[in-house]
Amino acid sequence: MTLGVPDLPPGSAPGRPRRAYLYADPAAHSRSPAMHRAAFAHAGLTGTYEAVRVPAPELSAALARLREPGVLGANLSLPHKEAALPFLDDLSEAARAVGAVNTVLHRDGRLLGENTDAPGLLAALEEAQAPAPSAGLTVVLGAGGAARAAVWALRSRGHDVRVVNRTPARAEALARNLGGTAQASGDVPWSGVTLLVNASSAGLDAPDETPLPDFDFSRLPPGALVYDMVYQPPETRLMREARAAGLRAENGRSMLAHQARLAFLAWTGVDVPASVFRAAAGGHEVRP
Ligand code: NAP
Repeated sequence: MTLGVPDLPPGSAPGRPRRAYLYADPAAHSRSPAMHRAAFAHAGLTGTYEAVRVPAPELSAALARLREPGVLGANLSLPHKEAALPFLDDLSEAARAVGAVNTVLHRDGRLLGENTDAPGLLAALEEAQAPAPSAGLTVVLGAGGAARAAVWALRSRGHDVRVVNRTPARAEALARNLGGTAQASGDVPWSGVTLLVNASSAGLDAPDETPLPDFDFSRLPPGALVYDMVYQPPETRLMREARAAGLRAENGRSMLAHQARLAFLAWTGVDVPASVFRAAAGGHEVRP
């Protein structure tokens, strides 16, 4: 999957100032500033990355400021990923399909909307040596923006995707729009599921919460991978229960690192290793 932006942007010549931002509300606790500042240092580039709290009514003015010389672009997080679309000049294939932008690229006064969550997930799954699409079925839990990115990305790689969500109507709408099959958890043929991706926010900052309560993980085949996009806590209840059944389970920190790596690459043309972003995001994974 290409990001479609191979050329170095204005401001990427050595020694010129580069500015990048996170626009979100709230913005204070983001790990993006630490990750991107570490990447500038690793790449030997002079650059700044600031997290800016942008309330929803101020988004269009904040985006307009990205057109200034020396600005590389911005990451967008809650609540701007979808709201930003009308204010951008163009969208990448991924951003258009997913309907969400997590990275804005500034090119000669124009703003391009990109979605690096989708290829970031694929890169993280590759790193985790996830089972191939031909190995079996893939289940995506959730029906929000992260699930949309996951379903689009996984289907683009040939996965047979089943979408399971707490509110079934949202899973059905997602599958109608992006493909895949919406299913109730009870209807999924779990013995054929080799990849389970949690793209719901269940478990986020909630060690006892799971998107699959009362679930028997031994129903999945032994080689299955459980990938939880949630990265805080580092071992979610979903991961804990999957590991207790002998399955492999990974948290979302690798995806966090790869989506940041791909944004930085699109802004600067420099491919800084994901390990640099991952270390800067803080902490170590809990492994069994
Ligand atoms: P969102 O748009 O708010 O969607 C949340 C989804 O989670 C909805 O489908 C919701 O179901 C479901 N959900 C929430 N609480 C639940 C619970 N207790 N039990 C079952 N389902 C529940 O959020 P999002 O932007 O898609 O993000 C989802 C998660 O992905 C977040 O934890 C986010 O941090 C993570 N994420 C990680 C990365 C990364 O780089 N690792 C990147 C993007 C997102 P309903 O439809 O029923 O409300």
